[in-house]
Amino acid sequence: MNIDDRIVSVWLFSGLEKELHYIAPKAISNKVAIGSLVKVPVGGRRQVMGIVNAVDCRPEIDLMRLKAIGQLVYPHPILNKGLLDLCEWTRNYYACSRESVLEAMVPAPVRDGMAPKVEKHISVGTVMDEASLEELRKRARKQAELYEIVQKLGVPQKKSDLLSRYAASPSACKALVDKGILKEVEIVKDRVAYEDEIGEFEYVSEQRVTLNEEQAAAVDSIEESRKEAKFIVHLLQGVTGSGKTEVYLSAMENALRDGKSVLFLVPEVALTPQTVGRLRSRLADRPDIQSVVWHSHLSAGERMDAWMACATGKARVVVGARSAVFAPLQKLGLIIVDEEHEPAYKQDESPRYHGRDIAVYRGFLEKAVCVLGSATPSLESYQNALKGKYRHDRLTKRIDDRSLPMIHIVDMRGEMMRSKKNISLSSMLVEKLRNRFENGEQSILFINRRGFSASMICQECGHVPECKHCSVTMTYHRFDETIKCHMCGHEEPAPHKCPECNDSKIRWKGLGTQRIEEAVKTILPMARTVRIDTDTMTKKYLFREILGKFRSGKIDILIGTQMIAKGLDFPNVTLVGLVDADLSMHVPDFRAHERTFQLLVQVSGRAGRGDLEGEVVVQTFTPHADPIQFARQADVDHFLEMETQIRQQHNYPPNRHLIRHLFRGPNPDKVAFFAEQFAKRVKENFGDAVELRGPVPCSIEKIKDHYRFQIWYFTNKARPTVAKLREIEASINWPDDVIQVIDVDAYSLG
Ligand code: ADP
Ligand code: ZN
Repeated sequence: MNIDDRIVSVWLFSGLEKELHYIAPKAISNKVAIGSLVKVPVGGRRQVMGIVNAVDCRPEIDLMRLKAIGQLVYPHPILNKGLLDLCEWTRNYYACSRESVLEAMVPAPVRDGMAPKVEKHISVGTVMDEASLEELRKRARKQAELYEIVQKLGVPQKKSDLLSRYAASPSACKALVDKGILKEVEIVKDRVAYEDEIGEFEYVSEQRVTLNEEQAAAVDSIEESRKEAKFIVHLLQGVTGSGKTEVYLSAMENALRDGKSVLFLVPEVALTPQTVGRLRSRLADRPDIQSVVWHSHLSAGERMDAWMACATGKARVVVGARSAVFAPLQKLGLIIVDEEHEPAYKQDESPRYHGRDIAVYRGFLEKAVCVLGSATPSLESYQNALKGKYRHDRLTKRIDDRSLPMIHIVDMRGEMMRSKKNISLSSMLVEKLRNRFENGEQSILFINRRGFSASMICQECGHVPECKHCSVTMTYHRFDETIKCHMCGHEEPAPHKCPECNDSKIRWKGLGTQRIEEAVKTILPMARTVRIDTDTMTKKYLFREILGKFRSGKIDILIGTQMIAKGLDFPNVTLVGLVDADLSMHVPDFRAHERTFQLLVQVSGRAGRGDLEGEVVVQTFTPHADPIQFARQADVDHFLEMETQIRQQHNYPPNRHLIRHLFRGPNPDKVAFFAEQFAKRVKENFGDAVELRGPVPCSIEKIKDHYRFQIWYFTNKARPTVAKLREIEASINWPDDVIQVIDVDAYSLG
């Protein structure tokens, strides 16, 4: 230990949960900072990567035994203090390891210490006078020639270009560099293909618009918050087509003008090419502002450079999905979360964080303004707005006072009765499709894929069996011919006849996109029909190509799941059909109505965005269900109020937090036993402070030969509850074949 050495503390990437202390030797001690990536020795000779989380520490240990940092990987920190704090919060809140959060935060090429791409450039080091040049010509003609070329060119030359273009010899170059006559510098090159990338997204040519009154008011309100320079959240609630994106873009420009950086989250980059395209074209006339599109197709090198561009303050805008919430932007001033209600923001594997909630907490840590936007806000955000925790900005009208589309509800029970068979397209939808096709207008058909086909529905009267205690749909189990509630475990024999109308047609099979496509082709063989399904979605360019064709009118009817409904803006679409509105309603999930409502509004919002009026046809077996009726009236606030009341009655989120504890393993009895033991421990520990439901089998009882059980904990205080649960977790000797996961604020309940 030396007087100039500093002691730092490091979080390792390799699973050790505690922090370790190291010496930063003199050579690097003034460069090592909070957030630096370092390579440090552990155990014997092994060196592992870690992040410096504190400097100038005074640990109460024998300083002589401290080891020194092996390497400072990059000259500048890769995380900032705010992100380190965010890491700790995420880890504690979502009950996961620090390692898993760090891995989610820092992309692999960065934490592996990937080298930046450097280019060597050559310029004149010392100018030679005529005499020494003459001397050099005699002694080493090639060196003299090279010197003269570089001097004539005047500006630094890329070394490889220079050598190949002028057929110069590398050894001559080296000799000149060694003598200091030429100078060689390394320049870090960005691998992010900024130029090429614009082409990847649909480049929507952006004409500057004049904001309407409501938009301007929203932008002002956000700007006011920004001027306060503290953490403030806005809920921007605007009907579909009201111009929310314009509000985001203006708010972004304001923040950039102040020298701040901006984080823009979308549910999924591939699914929102238009939003990304608009953002990029808006930045096109600001070449001084570097932006990064963070998506899953980035190569390792691009990922690395994009990250570094943020960490060093070069890039000031990041647009991306969930994981972009951790982008190490400097001077973060504004965070935008588009479609904040989207379940896609919640990660389904460890760390099971919610992108929107992390965004809000990051805003809190970094004193940034957050804007959560949606046409159908989540109940969570809506309540926060009503309570005054969030500022509430509204856009109540569509642009140019375009009317919201007319929504027709088709009762499929009647359709089935009339046609005497299982049909997928109602006569109304067929007629309207034909009519649009003949008029040269476009249509979109959506298939609802959120539901399980495991619920029962009577095709005669639309009855769906629900649990007496939980107000959720019972799940049908073919195995033992029962219907079960997956919240409380209540079960009954599966009915052979509908308990309401005594009909025996109480079975339901979902419709696939393929069946719909076949049906459309039979009815309108001349129409150009394209189906988008999961296969299409995984191919990088196909989805965008299809959207491009649709935009240019080369496709008449687009068929897909609601996955494609996000953010699409096609002015020539005048008809939208939702083929099976019910499926998402009859799932064992207290958010089923909320989701169905969101889906209906989202999907309807795709119609009538141009000068022509739009129409929507919703096919359903339960035409009187609340989500359908409220969506028909486009009455978002009343739906949310009613739904809020229902949640209050049952004391579901957002009233309380729901923590889901999942247990799985190959031996169902053993898994159930451990789940029960755990439940017992929880009851002993918490008493009435936490309400417990379960353990019960999950809706999907077996996945990959693992049997699944779950316990639900309802609590008013997530953090202390999580902390205690983890204590209990740690005190149990878990066998290898029982795997358990705690999911805080769970969304996926299946
Ligand atoms: P939302 O995000 O609320 O669905 P968008 O921002 O996509 O709405 O706006 C819908 C359409 O209206 C887009 O084509 C957009 O370019 C256009 N638009 C938005 N604001 C204005 C405005 N103030 N004047 C004219 N057109 C606008
Ligand atoms: Zn129940």
